[in-house]
Amino acid sequence: MKRWNGWGDEATTYPLPDSAAHYMADQVGEGLHLQDATMEQALLAVPSSCLAPHPLISTDPEKRLRHARGQSLPDWIALRSGQIRAFPDGVAYPGSNEEVRTLLEYARKTGIKLIPFGGGTSVVGHINPLPSEAPVLTMDLTRLNRLLALDETSQLATFEAGVTGPEIEKQLNARGYTLGHFPQSFELSTLGGWIVTRSSGQQSYHYGRIEAMFAGGHVETPIGTMDLPVHPASAVGPDLKQVLLGSEGRLGVVTQAILRVCRYPEFEAFYGVFFHDWQQGANAVRQIAQAGVGVSMLRMSNAMETTTTLALSGQDVLVKWAGRGLRAIGFGDERALLVFGVTGTRRQTTQARLEALEIIRAHGGLMTGTAIGRMWKKSRFYAPYLRNTLWEAGYALDTLETAIPWSEVVGTAEEVQKVLREGLADVGERVLVFAHLSHVYRDGASIYVTYLYRRANSPEETLRRWQMLKGAASRVILAHGGTISHQHGVGLDHVAYLAAEKGPIGMQTLESLIRLFDPDGMMNPGKLLAI
Ligand SMILES: Cc1cc2nc3c(=O)[nH]c(=O)nc-3n(C[C@H](O)[C@H](O)[C@H](O)COP(=O)(O)OP(=O)(O)OC[C@H]3O[C@@H](n4cnc5c(N)ncnc54)[C@H](O)[C@@H]3O)c2cc1C
Repeated sequence: MKRWNGWGDEATTYPLPDSAAHYMADQVGEGLHLQDATMEQALLAVPSSCLAPHPLISTDPEKRLRHARGQSLPDWIALRSGQIRAFPDGVAYPGSNEEVRTLLEYARKTGIKLIPFGGGTSVVGHINPLPSEAPVLTMDLTRLNRLLALDETSQLATFEAGVTGPEIEKQLNARGYTLGHFPQSFELSTLGGWIVTRSSGQQSYHYGRIEAMFAGGHVETPIGTMDLPVHPASAVGPDLKQVLLGSEGRLGVVTQAILRVCRYPEFEAFYGVFFHDWQQGANAVRQIAQAGVGVSMLRMSNAMETTTTLALSGQDVLVKWAGRGLRAIGFGDERALLVFGVTGTRRQTTQARLEALEIIRAHGGLMTGTAIGRMWKKSRFYAPYLRNTLWEAGYALDTLETAIPWSEVVGTAEEVQKVLREGLADVGERVLVFAHLSHVYRDGASIYVTYLYRRANSPEETLRRWQMLKGAASRVILAHGGTISHQHGVGLDHVAYLAAEKGPIGMQTLESLIRLFDPDGMMNPGKLLAI
């Protein structure tokens, strides 16, 4: 069963090793042990539903609670404190295009606001109902989870859009294929959610972002059905798939998507490399990307992330000995860890590894083999469970990200981390901040920053501290010309920053599109744009 107020399956836990607990206390102070609201308490706040009975809609309070919030830090604060504010009036679980259409028509006729819901893993407030006079219906799409067709000649797979990452890979792997889209939220997030938030997987360097995989599909909109046919390429005007990508539930419901898939790779491995410092590592990964070396993943952690990852790994003895060894050969406290992967045939992967290593060595990097890479692979979808443990130990954790040209990467990363590190000095609190380059391109990279601070005595104060930190970091990102999001989207939390990136004509274009597809303003209001 999915946790109602945290990440993942209730049966899975991530115990914090003692040494890691001491590390956290050293960095930001002892966490306060605060009581969370129970589900029973949270359920008391669910008001009676405004919806009339309908055969496709459930008004069960627990279902409404479970669809009230996503996975952002403000969502966690609300859920854990039981101060959730707004709930959907009902939840529908359509099992076909026809049922989606029926629900859209019903919502349109009766003035209901409708929120498409995939895995609910949004970290920017995408699926949260806003307080509203009109009833709110959440449409949970996870019953739409089948592989409908696999064209092996064209390597195109048609899936229903509520399918989760593991369900996609299971169905494709059984036929010898893979999609290769592995966001860290893989376990719970869905195909439809990936498309409309422009998601990026951990191996997007090799497989492409969701934009590259999304070849066509079927969308039910308030004004009718839209089919996006598949063409390997087309010069027939603007690409309407791009209108849908990033539309965040404002234009309609994606019910099916046709995806470009690949043969399951013959070989894959991940390697750990140490650099003397982050700048050296950043230079190396830039050169790897610009030389077009065929690796499948590059994750370049800075010194603080390297230290923290190792401290939280629980492998104390190993980490201690490795640290001594590295220091003895000149890799000091600034050392920074790169994890890179190779994926493909034996020949391709050998070639990619050798070419990458040549560049790595030229930048002073030290290859350590596959042990660290194996550890990374093992925890790639498990790491989010640590957030539950840290919260319970009294710490609030959030991440933010941007993408920016190479010339701005290191400067922006340093300044974002600085404002976060110093962001709670006025209230006498420390913030632990670290970063990595998570996706690299020829012209730039995405910077992924994690920050952690102590929960305050009250949820209001914990939230106020988050607002201070998020605001300060976002302003730095914009000042450097970075995007406010590389992969998480806009939702509610980034609405205020959108105009800076799109400009006045861009904002008018987006608004016109929303008004065209959704003349009654029923689709996920307030997300992406404040209309
Ligand atoms: C621990 C964690 C790790 C994460 N790691 C990554 C990562 O590595 N890469 C990444 O890109 N993101 C990541 N995310 C963010 C999140 O997983 C993505 O934004 C994901 O694409 C959301 O998918 P979902 O199915 O959960 O969508 P939801 O959260 O349910 O919805 C997101 C938006 O999509 C809309 N929507 C959902 N399904 C449909 C549909 N079928 N038709 C129309 N609209 C729809 C909703 O209305 C909403 O606006 C992470 C989140 C968490 C909590």
